[in-house]
Amino acid sequence: MNKYVGEVIVLYEELEEIVSEKSTIIYDEIMANHTSFKIGGKADVFVVANSNEDLIQVIEYAKKNDISLFIIGNGSNLLVSDKGIRGVVIKLGDFFREVNVEGEYVIAGSACSINAVAQKALEGSLSGFEWAFGIPGSIGGAVFMNAGAYGGSMSDVVYETTYLDEEYNLCVLENTKHDFGYRKSVFKSGDIKGIILSTKLKLKNGDSKDIWDEMQKYINARIEKQPLNMPSAGSVFKRPDGYFAGKLIEDSGLKGFKVGGAQVSEKHAGFIVNLGDATANDVKELIKYIQNKVKENYNVELETEIMEVGEWE
Ligand SMILES: Cc1cc2nc3c(=O)[nH]c(=O)nc-3n(C[C@H](O)[C@H](O)[C@H](O)COP(=O)(O)OP(=O)(O)OC[C@H]3O[C@@H](n4cnc5c(N)ncnc54)[C@H](O)[C@@H]3O)c2cc1C
Repeated sequence: MNKYVGEVIVLYEELEEIVSEKSTIIYDEIMANHTSFKIGGKADVFVVANSNEDLIQVIEYAKKNDISLFIIGNGSNLLVSDKGIRGVVIKLGDFFREVNVEGEYVIAGSACSINAVAQKALEGSLSGFEWAFGIPGSIGGAVFMNAGAYGGSMSDVVYETTYLDEEYNLCVLENTKHDFGYRKSVFKSGDIKGIILSTKLKLKNGDSKDIWDEMQKYINARIEKQPLNMPSAGSVFKRPDGYFAGKLIEDSGLKGFKVGGAQVSEKHAGFIVNLGDATANDVKELIKYIQNKVKENYNVELETEIMEVGEWE
């Protein structure tokens, strides 16, 4: 047996020993099953953590044995390499999916989908999160990315975030300490290396019919403008100052342009879609091609919003 495969089997077996039955450990999990792009090779070991204790056990083990860890939300902003991810990938399970309304606050476990949180806010007649309805991420991923749309962003609504720091302390971070910026947070910059466990949103009392109408308006705008019937990771590029990435790409004549199974969406040029058999390398090559063309035509540098993860060539 190849030495590396042997090491991964040991890693898998040792994690099985230390983690309770509440959590699941999977060997050689295909990451394409966990990304909205439907792209990505295998993770050595994939853990679905279902308690704080299990989460701490896994992190402690990885730290002691110098094994790399990656935490995945809904995988809707990721390009995972074809070679996959070495070490351990952690996904937070159902235990982290509780969502409750308390007065003007919505408290949501990290693994809650953004849509479930928006739905809960609607049920509590709370306004201020309508803009997020339809973003296919988890609330933890949304805090990490400072997700935003239609003039709103997480920075407007997060009251505080609870996270587990590198020393396994439960910490609470108030809004102003998140260092929120455009698709930026203190977690994304790496200034805080922690696992987001839950977040508390502060919303405003509103009228549930108005809230629902607003949510529908945004979802309909997404259906009309975005290629939601094809695998993608949303907008590939950040909005460059003074421009729209999609327009620059469209005006460069790249709508429909393909590399292998990756294509600039015919519907929205800011999206790259997987036609079915796209590899991560196809997407990467297409990104490079788009960046070069836009630079050549408009002297604008397009910076990626999606995050490249895993082991590359
Ligand atoms: C069709 C489509 C439309 C989209 N529209 C929008 C949009 O309008 N606005 C927008 O901002 N984005 C949009 N996105 C992108 C994406 O949905 C958001 O960035 C979302 O917030 C990512 O959340 P996620 O749970 O999928 O995170 P992932 O993609 O799984 O991870 C993103 C990053 O967050 C980190 N992370 C995730 N969870 C945790 C946690 N609990 N603790 C610590 N780190 C964590 C991961 O390690 C990773 O670095 C869209 C994507 C698609 C496919």
